[in-house]
Amino acid sequence: EFAVATTEKHIFRSKLPSISIPDDLPLHDYCFEKLPEISDRPCLIDGATGSILSYSDVHLLSRRAAAGLHRLGIQQGDVIMIFLPNSPAFAFAFLGASFLGAISTTANPFYTASEVHKQAKASAAKLVITESSHVHKVQDLGVDIIVIDEPVPAGCRSFSELLAADENEIPKVDIKPDDVVALPYSSGTTGLPKGVMLTHRSLVTSVAQQVDGENPNLYFHKEDVLLCVLPLFHIYSLNSVLLCGLRAGSAIVIMKKFDLVKLMELVEKYRVTVAPFVPPIVVEMAKSEAVDSYDLSSVRMVMSGAAPMGKNCRIRLRLSFLTLSLDSLGFQAGSAAVINMNWQTKGVCAHGALNFYLHGYGMTEAGPVLSMCLAFAKKPFSYKSGSCGTVVRNAELKIVDPETGAPLLRNQPGEICIRGKQIMKGYLNDPEATEATIDAEGWLHTGDIGYVDDDEEIYIVDRLKELIKYKGFQVAPAELEALLIAHPKIAGAAVVPLKDDLCGELPIAFVVLSNGNEITEDEIKQYVSKQVVFYKRVHRVFFIEAIPKSPSGKILRKDLRVRLAEIVQNG
Ligand code: AMP
Repeated sequence: EFAVATTEKHIFRSKLPSISIPDDLPLHDYCFEKLPEISDRPCLIDGATGSILSYSDVHLLSRRAAAGLHRLGIQQGDVIMIFLPNSPAFAFAFLGASFLGAISTTANPFYTASEVHKQAKASAAKLVITESSHVHKVQDLGVDIIVIDEPVPAGCRSFSELLAADENEIPKVDIKPDDVVALPYSSGTTGLPKGVMLTHRSLVTSVAQQVDGENPNLYFHKEDVLLCVLPLFHIYSLNSVLLCGLRAGSAIVIMKKFDLVKLMELVEKYRVTVAPFVPPIVVEMAKSEAVDSYDLSSVRMVMSGAAPMGKNCRIRLRLSFLTLSLDSLGFQAGSAAVINMNWQTKGVCAHGALNFYLHGYGMTEAGPVLSMCLAFAKKPFSYKSGSCGTVVRNAELKIVDPETGAPLLRNQPGEICIRGKQIMKGYLNDPEATEATIDAEGWLHTGDIGYVDDDEEIYIVDRLKELIKYKGFQVAPAELEALLIAHPKIAGAAVVPLKDDLCGELPIAFVVLSNGNEITEDEIKQYVSKQVVFYKRVHRVFFIEAIPKSPSGKILRKDLRVRLAEIVQNG
């Protein structure tokens, strides 16, 4: 038993002062709070069609979507599934559900039928909004299917039909701050993907922690044009791009899917000022010759998060607005900040503001942002290489010994824990997993290993949890293991990550064959590929005698990671 109590010296906070964050506003009211001031300003720009919707258009269409959903029987507390690529309709559906007090569960449109079925069933989604090309994956769910494009397949309804509803038909609902509004899925520290209950309060708090209060000139503002290329089904993009952008009154350019050349065309065309990315996009951009052909001088801020930057990333990031040499940045696994470096600006950016690269550290369950490298207005570029910045304001962070739970002092690595109103309410219908993640004192245990230095800066050094991250996408080993074990020729399986410069990590399987059976590595890879979205595919399969397990039956993943490192080293 440990006797170390958490005291002030164990708790780390932002360097920025706390701010007052509304506790009673539903998310949509908070996002549109400044509507009267910005009603005519551009809000959503559809990168595919060039159509531009103003803030009042988006507000109206979201309310019509709410009325349309209500006509179809969606009520307060119901779950709808948004199974869409990035599009303006995504925003109307999400905000529309929020207006009704309903909940959106967001799913990757590239999920296979079995993946999307699991989430739809687990979340009890009453309706699915998707594109016609994905209808075949959801049509036997037995719920209404709304399609955003034409022609509308038989048996489905058109989203434009919803948008034709009268916004005055929205019923009066009494939304409480503790009501759930978003239900993304995440495997957290262990096991299968679970529904992460993010409430109106969580998301209002998280958005406020990012865009309200101090630093208005360096963070998003009204004149900013944000690029929304990261998938909105992931909370990073939903929260830190769409919701933060709306709150700030920025214009948001929506890109359906990542394509580097199209991305640069959009940046040039719409004079994008803020580009939220994930490390693989930064890497691809850094390597591309095409970058020189576009005028990207409007970009004042590149953001990156959701995964660590690759180790030994020796590439030059050549943007016409910024030249920096990543290898001078001392990149390490888990390293982050790229401010304060060997960089020179070329050309002047739109607002004469400082160009900088902002790294964030997030986790779906945490709302998601835990920390950011915010350049301080008075003292810009004050973050050290490798840091994930400081904890967001109005929140507390502590580091605990993963074995004993005892709180640790600064500079001592341990499990990162966060507390604040932004964190999830819990996992849907899973009190056990909730209790294992949020302790009795309200601390969310991240499963990430890191430390806080003398300047309050956070460094992530390792991951305690099972989670594998492929280009920022979640891969839950337990999900792949269950698939593998379901194969009649496989008796045991364990999936672990292999470090990769471009993708971050790749899922690798260790497999035990059942007696007398034979199956090749390729057959197993194909068997998995058929059932999962592209980033969950296993990249290698190694056959072993037995899966190492603890006396209680837990897979000893560390042993397998060591074994994998040996295999890689020996070629
Ligand atoms: P997700 O819930 O999909 O956002 O995944 C959260 C996990 O991604 C975190 O718990 C970390 O393990 C990892 N992660 C997110 N941001 C970073 C970062 N900046 N550096 C290192 N790992 C990160």
